[in-house]
Amino acid sequence: MTVRTATFRAQLDYLKQHGYPIVPLRTVVSHLLGKGPAPPPRAVVITVDDGHASVITEMLPLVTEYRIPITLFIYPSAISNASYAMKWDQLAMLQRTGLFDIQSHTYWHPNFKTEKRRLPADAFQSFVTMQLAKPRKVLKDKLGVDADLLAWPFGIYDDELIAKAREAGYVSAFTLDRRPVTPRERVMALPRYLVLDSDSGARFASMLPRQ
Ligand SMILES: [Zn+2]
Repeated sequence: MTVRTATFRAQLDYLKQHGYPIVPLRTVVSHLLGKGPAPPPRAVVITVDDGHASVITEMLPLVTEYRIPITLFIYPSAISNASYAMKWDQLAMLQRTGLFDIQSHTYWHPNFKTEKRRLPADAFQSFVTMQLAKPRKVLKDKLGVDADLLAWPFGIYDDELIAKAREAGYVSAFTLDRRPVTPRERVMALPRYLVLDSDSGARFASMLPRQ
């Protein structure tokens, strides 16, 4: 979530020194979908949501140095628009490193719980469809990406949203349910740990897979 650069480096060093391989998210998804080999034991995946400019200024130098795969979940409405966000040419440059996979975090990062209360049922359905379908189209147009992975904004999901996401063409989606991925997961609600700057030492170690 929000981690100082020095803390991120310490976390990467910890993973390296203690033998936790960092694998692409796609490796885990393909395996869970029955389309690829199991990731190595103790594998860790790194995902970064929201597309902030600090991915370029702070994270990219470390990713290049450690040669680790990263999945970015971005919401296109902010890109080349919000002052805190990256620009499309920066995302294209990250893609060219071969280390970054750029995927969907909906179109403008809505809170689906709030919108469901606010909107009439029909309008909510259309709203969800737009939020899920539009980022796939924009990522295709801007970056040539088939964005079939989705990070749920604020980690919010339910059965209805999952059905809509499948309909929109997503094959897997990610929550903030704080636990390791097991072999029998719901592929449209894979858990992730939200990592903070305070997650160092024993706190960081407690999130890591045991086997
Ligand atoms: Zn987010």
